[in-house]
Amino acid sequence: MWQDNINAQLATLEKKAQKRKLPRMERSDEGWVMMNGRKLLNLASNNYLGLADDERLIEASIRAMQTYGAGATASRLIVGNHALYEEAEAALVKWKETEAALIINSGYTANVGILSALASREDVIFSDKLNHASIVDGAILSRAELKRYRHNDIDHLETLLKKTPVHKLKIIVTDTVFSMDGDIAPLRELVALKEKYGAILMIDEAHSSGLYGEKGEGLAHHLGIAEHVDIHMGTFSKALGTFGAYVTGKKYLIDYLINHMRAFIFTTALPPAVLGSIRAAISIVQQEHERRINLFTHSDYVRNELKRLGFNIGASTTQIVPIIIGDNERTVRFSERLQERGIAAVAIRPPTVPEGTARIRFSLMATLTKQQIDWALEQIALVGKEMGVIA
Ligand code: PMP
Repeated sequence: MWQDNINAQLATLEKKAQKRKLPRMERSDEGWVMMNGRKLLNLASNNYLGLADDERLIEASIRAMQTYGAGATASRLIVGNHALYEEAEAALVKWKETEAALIINSGYTANVGILSALASREDVIFSDKLNHASIVDGAILSRAELKRYRHNDIDHLETLLKKTPVHKLKIIVTDTVFSMDGDIAPLRELVALKEKYGAILMIDEAHSSGLYGEKGEGLAHHLGIAEHVDIHMGTFSKALGTFGAYVTGKKYLIDYLINHMRAFIFTTALPPAVLGSIRAAISIVQQEHERRINLFTHSDYVRNELKRLGFNIGASTTQIVPIIIGDNERTVRFSERLQERGIAAVAIRPPTVPEGTARIRFSLMATLTKQQIDWALEQIALVGKEMGVIA
């Protein structure tokens, strides 16, 4: 019976401490969030610059909704392409110093849609083993051969590229900041390899858009290699504080996607309210450098303090800081104890991360205060000692 099969699978998850439960969230402000009826310091959100609470984004959303309505009513190729799209995409082209831009409904949809539009059965996709699930799903949907290279291992990638026939279309794809480890991809080396082997390079700037580069353009701009990357994908759902995603690159690439990307063609356009806040966020993020500076100051401090306390933070160099605990149950208990002490930080377990590397993932926000952070570090140290994670 299919019902028994489903229940057995749920029971297995429960036994392995991998069964997920939806928390109940209420209004959050100034770094705090109400979760399951408790007020917690929010060290779990991707609202890295604090823009999700920004009045200017909220007002832009309201204005857009009042002008264009609550829903887009159709896909962009039918009658959903309201004027805000053109404005926001023009702003993206300027911000990213590129030829063309396309706004897509979410980061997940963007990765699935771009990869499945560009690659097909005869092609090969080279994907970092720790890339986001949406990249893996896009590769699977494309039916291309998927070769996963060891995390950030350029030599392994080169070995795989060498073994692939020269005539095959090759796409190398990587996250720029890895969402569960907080480390960064070796983009310069990836550009060198892509040029040597005639591959296409696609990057996912979900966790770096708004944060790196002089105007928050992303890690590729920060490293001065933006024009060597063929496909820039990023999201508005994290540092930019709202929702949706973009892809930028050459005009022919964007035209091709408009014509071939099923995840773009066959879905309703974003609601005008979302476009309003996207448009506002693209302007704000370019101007307000202090937010980036605050975030990096906080991140450096937290990483150093956690290391000093004896936690294993892996290879993190960014605003995403894991403490790797290993065992699933112990990790869940750690996050529950943090909640009891007033901190929201999630336990990340397999299959999101490899077996035996369950962790607490902290993500920092520019708008936290030094007092909030010091208080949080005290609580984390206490739980770490209570549970024997640190001495
Ligand atoms: N790529 C990466 C690297 C991500 O971390 C995420 C979101 N967790 C996505 C894509 C998906 O983005 P969205 O939430 O906008 O669908």
